[in-house]
Amino acid sequence: MILFEEMGLDASLLKAVKELGFETPTPIQEKVIPRILTDKVDLIALAQTGTGKTAAFGLPLIQMADTSVQDIQGLILCPTRELCMQITNDLKTFSKFEKGFKVVPVYGGASVETQIKSIKKGAQIVVGTPGRMLDLIKRKVVKVGKIRWLVLDEADEMLNMGFKEDLDAILAGTPADKQTLLFSATMPKEILRIADNYMHQPDEISAGKKNVGAENVHHEYYVAQAKYRYEVLKRIADMNPKIYGIVFCRTRRETKEVADKFMNDGYNADALHGDLSQSQRDYVMNRFRNKSLQMLVATDVAARGLDVNDLTHVINYNLPDELEAYIHRSGRTGRAGKSGISIAIVHTRETRKIRELEKITGKTFKRKPIPDGREICKKRLYTLVDKVEKVQLNEDQIGEFLPEIYKKLDWLSREDLIKHFVSVEFNRFLSYYKNAPDLNVDAESSSGGREKGRRDKRGKQEFSRFFINLGKLNKLNASKLIGLINDATHTKDMEIGKIDILKKFSFFEIEKHHEKDVLKAFEAGVKFEGVRVAVEISKPDHAKDKGAYKKKERPFKKYERSERKGGKKSGKKKPYRKR
Ligand code: AMP
Repeated sequence: MILFEEMGLDASLLKAVKELGFETPTPIQEKVIPRILTDKVDLIALAQTGTGKTAAFGLPLIQMADTSVQDIQGLILCPTRELCMQITNDLKTFSKFEKGFKVVPVYGGASVETQIKSIKKGAQIVVGTPGRMLDLIKRKVVKVGKIRWLVLDEADEMLNMGFKEDLDAILAGTPADKQTLLFSATMPKEILRIADNYMHQPDEISAGKKNVGAENVHHEYYVAQAKYRYEVLKRIADMNPKIYGIVFCRTRRETKEVADKFMNDGYNADALHGDLSQSQRDYVMNRFRNKSLQMLVATDVAARGLDVNDLTHVINYNLPDELEAYIHRSGRTGRAGKSGISIAIVHTRETRKIRELEKITGKTFKRKPIPDGREICKKRLYTLVDKVEKVQLNEDQIGEFLPEIYKKLDWLSREDLIKHFVSVEFNRFLSYYKNAPDLNVDAESSSGGREKGRRDKRGKQEFSRFFINLGKLNKLNASKLIGLINDATHTKDMEIGKIDILKKFSFFEIEKHHEKDVLKAFEAGVKFEGVRVAVEISKPDHAKDKGAYKKKERPFKKYERSERKGGKKSGKKKPYRKR
């Protein structure tokens, strides 16, 4: 391991680093800092959040910037306003002993005039989100023709957020002889395209396994039926009274729904998503940062740049569509030398995704049983008793009231007194969990085993069967139908049963308790390939349009037969899960 002192950094920067309490460089700093200081080669660094990458590019840029001139020499692009502020503040802290060094942040959602004024006062480095940066370049306020460095931080996130065109436009205007430093937690194809188009034989650097953040994260998952996802989340929260974490949801809508339910159920949580105004987001983030909030329910995008280092848990309420985003999420915990737990709540057919995640992260994911009511009550009770034992007594303040209180409780024995006082705190929990069901399912295999409960219930018409006026002639297939249902219902938590795609129309099954949701979702005039979609509960009438079927189309035959028999369907149907 090399020391900061051995990297060629100036004394002023070493002093700032020391004041920050950085004792030794992180792996990415060890690899990147000496390279930038000595070499003009382009770099692609595979680095997650929390690995110390800001100092990895920030320290050498500060050292090499020419402070005798106020022209822009380096651009740093990042995905969010929060990250932009964070990088700027970090650079200001690192450069506190550098005379004449100036860094300016630019981002959308704030006054462009103020930002223009700051840039015109002079700065060597501008940090910005791509949209606003491009705007300022077009206004000729940010002049990129002579820049020496271009940093793309969290490049994969910038692409995920739809900044591809803006990035292309910015990159195209920069000089060919600049040094480009690209940092990304994942390496999707699009990053390689950027590297091919805009970088010169870049060297790839990976902090890989040495990554401190990732090393300290334990990965766990709970398997439950999709409809119990929220219930499982509550149990996880109840089982961890000191939790301080982020609950990741897939969409804004899901974030809102989960956060609303969570708050209504009395949890110390709030939502963070893109529908909030900037001041609302700042308010929520500040409450979370100062720990007034224990849990933040958030979308991936909204949680970017939230610089909180001591999260105990990250919970994947739903796994992200792009599994690689899981790395970003789980990297939010286990930072700054602390350990953390990353939890995924999955349904039975998603265990396959867990195996994929194990491959991507190189980590083992431990399946945990969903705690039952008794375990949760026990845990909470002992936490309460522990708190009582350790509470700081303010005898001066309570002293004057005690004689009266002793007198009032005199009739209770020591044991009864304890029982009474525990019940005051605890009855809500006990009654909630009194008859709480076991939510564990026995499925584990990636071939998609099903939970016991559902298999038993299948014969009891647990699914409703729907008719839809689209078939093969409309280019419909099973996966398109699933997509259509997902889009119309705005949720992926409904279980889809059997699907029969026929020539002119089709049938699908959805869990019975979602029947109304499905009908309502399609009332709103959904279109598919230009055809207005009609969905209704399947009736024997739908079977009469014989022209629509070829003889060999067995599903229909089966359907006809089963309808006549009173709706009992073939026991071997393979249920689809929405994807
Ligand atoms: P970053 O990945 O740049 O967001 O950094 C993550 C956190 O690690 C920040 O709070 C930094 O202040 C901190 N950090 C960066 N480098 C070091 C280091 N060498 N030693 C200790 N902490 C560091």
